Amino acid sequence: MKLLENKVAIITGASRGIGEAIAVKFAEQGAHVAFTYLSSEDRARALEERLAALGVKAKGYKSDAADYKAAETLTADVLKDFGTIDICVNNAGISRDNLLLRLTPDQWDEVMQANLKSVYNLTKQVIRPMMKNRAGSIINLSSVVGVKGNGGQSAYAASKAGIIGFTKSVALEIGSRNIRCNAIAPGFIETDMTHYLKDGGAEKWMEKIPLGRFGKPEDVANAALYLACDMSMYVTGQTLSVCGGMAT
Ligand code: NAP
Repeated sequence: MKLLENKVAIITGASRGIGEAIAVKFAEQGAHVAFTYLSSEDRARALEERLAALGVKAKGYKSDAADYKAAETLTADVLKDFGTIDICVNNAGISRDNLLLRLTPDQWDEVMQANLKSVYNLTKQVIRPMMKNRAGSIINLSSVVGVKGNGGQSAYAASKAGIIGFTKSVALEIGSRNIRCNAIAPGFIETDMTHYLKDGGAEKWMEKIPLGRFGKPEDVANAALYLACDMSMYVTGQTLSVCGGMAT
């Protein structure tokens, strides 16, 4: 028996990086996967094929996580195509790093909408089918930067800290319906998002990581699997750091 046999998961931003790794991990464990992307059409189609080859139903939807109406449409489409939603992973996110003195109002808004409002948008939609099922697991991608802060990332850090407050509050609101809501705070994970940092100051970051290596998307996917499945059935409102000890 696989850990997510016949569960239906919706994952935002799975065309690349951490979201893609979560989609593959969930499908390997028997989940049917609905996922979103913003512009990576070819990668989305390739992921659909990769997941379907694992014997599960898989479909990619082009849907802007920052757009409330799009979240409504997406949820209706996924319910029509998959019948229900058991697990929701709010993973889509962006970074627009800049010192506060140079950070423009547009950059601030862009980060807040893509990273924080997006979590509100979809969570609000998926709790309805979950309430009907009297079960569900919501997993939100925060960051070690949301826990500790980081110079040059005030908007990103604020959005990721906001996710932690949102996660705790939602966990308190819907725990009685057997819906769990947790966050993951990854450290430095090797994806497109961190590629430029790696070129710039890899040693500086490495010094802060007790386990002595950057994380891989699969490290985060393993944590997401734990929070999605029944192994964590008594865990809610928590933020799980997956950072090689960086936040310690
Ligand atoms: P990534 O490699 O840059 O991939 C981002 C994914 O999100 C892509 O699939 C992208 O779609 C999608 N996306 C971006 N904006 C979107 C929008 N408005 N609507 C729908 N999809 C959107 O990022 P990552 O490193 O995997 O990060 C995933 C999550 O983990 C993010 O929330 C990030 O903040 C968080 N995180 C990452 C790290 C790290 O070190 N990498 C650390 C802590 C937290 P397209 O391909 O179509 O553009």
